[in-house]
Amino acid sequence: MDFSLTDDQRLIRDTVRRFMEAEVRPNARQNDREEKFAAAELRHLGELGCCGMLIPEEWGGAGADSIAYVLMLEEVARVDAAMAVALSVTNSVVAWPLYNHGTEAQRRKYLPQLSRGEILGSFCLTEAQAGSDSAALQTRAVLDGDTYRLNGVKTWVTSGGQSGLYFVFAKTDPQAGARGITAFLVEPSFPGFRVSRYEDKMGLRSSRSAEITLSDCQVPAENRLGGEGQGLKIALEALDGGRVGIAAQAVGIAQGALEAAASYAKQRRAFGKTISEFQAIQWMLADMQTEIEAARALVWQAAWLRDTGAAHLGAYASRAKLYAGEMVNRVVYKAVQVHGSMGYSRESDVERMYRDARVISIYEGTSEIQRMIIARDLLARGAAQPPQAAEGAR
Ligand SMILES: Cc1cc2nc3c(=O)[nH]c(=O)nc-3n(C[C@H](O)[C@H](O)[C@H](O)COP(=O)(O)OP(=O)(O)OC[C@H]3O[C@@H](n4cnc5c(N)ncnc54)[C@H](O)[C@@H]3O)c2cc1C
Repeated sequence: MDFSLTDDQRLIRDTVRRFMEAEVRPNARQNDREEKFAAAELRHLGELGCCGMLIPEEWGGAGADSIAYVLMLEEVARVDAAMAVALSVTNSVVAWPLYNHGTEAQRRKYLPQLSRGEILGSFCLTEAQAGSDSAALQTRAVLDGDTYRLNGVKTWVTSGGQSGLYFVFAKTDPQAGARGITAFLVEPSFPGFRVSRYEDKMGLRSSRSAEITLSDCQVPAENRLGGEGQGLKIALEALDGGRVGIAAQAVGIAQGALEAAASYAKQRRAFGKTISEFQAIQWMLADMQTEIEAARALVWQAAWLRDTGAAHLGAYASRAKLYAGEMVNRVVYKAVQVHGSMGYSRESDVERMYRDARVISIYEGTSEIQRMIIARDLLARGAAQPPQAAEGAR
């Protein structure tokens, strides 16, 4: 077992860290307050290869491995979690399934733009009555000649209004339930596409979450991704990879919060000492770091399994997301505690991190749904399965 990073992985991590410190950290708090989407900074990360990290170079991507990908997301989230979610969605649940299931023409049309960060991608599965129970979605797609007409309302669309490509799931055969869902690549310029509302959120305030209304939205038949009825399978497969990214986002937020707390503890004085000299504070910091390391190990394990083509990635991704998503909430709680009243002030970064962290155990599958996936897997395969790379994998 070798946990050392390759030169390429280190280079990506260090380049992204330098960029985030120099160009994003100075404005992160203000962007949150003004709900300002960091479009220029995201474009720059796209130029560095961060929008299509897992996509081969021939399609404009960085051709990196999943470890490099999670390192990138961790570094972004350590400074600005709102940018990390836009990157995670574009990479994991838009570019990757497009590469995996797209036709040559679809790849040619959209992948290079996505991979270079010229456009962002959005994933449109959730509806008002279909969150955890995604098969309950009601958006309809009806084929009319060589055009599908889509009708329905998608909610909580990350980067909605800012994206150049929307990956939309709709029912082509409502009687078939989960097997009647089909995936579509929708451009915002298609007739009948409209951003109807933005959410007013607790955290991630500089990342837009939109409601998208599709009113007889005309989507060319050539923009169907995969066959009719394959949509939910494509969505769930994409979410397996997506959860590894969201878990990395959690580790990044937690790491940022730990660094802020340790630094504050060393300069804040009480009772004639720095508070870092109190054992109560030291123990909080020690617990925070230990939990972060445990979560990072789960994330790296899932990322490694993703690259080695392991079966049952789903349960590994779910374990990483479950643990990291709950860990980050414990860590940011302690980071605020170490800061005292300063941690409750909008002038501290940990106040923003506290709000940003809350959603991690909710989106891309709640903690309860992750537990269902993990339990289903362990009861089906036995409780003592070690992680296995696919036979013959590197
Ligand atoms: C900031 C943000 C960004 C998002 N971005 C996107 C996006 O880009 N694209 C997209 O499609 N969606 C997005 N979502 C939606 C998100 O994925 C859903 O909110 C999530 O899947 C949960 O669905 P829900 O909110 O409808 O909760 P519900 O499904 O209504 O769940 C409510 C509660 O019931 C529990 N529950 C539900 N079913 C079960 C069960 N069988 N057993 C036990 N407990 C259960 C849940 O765990 C939860 O605690 C986003 C959400 C947020 C907050």
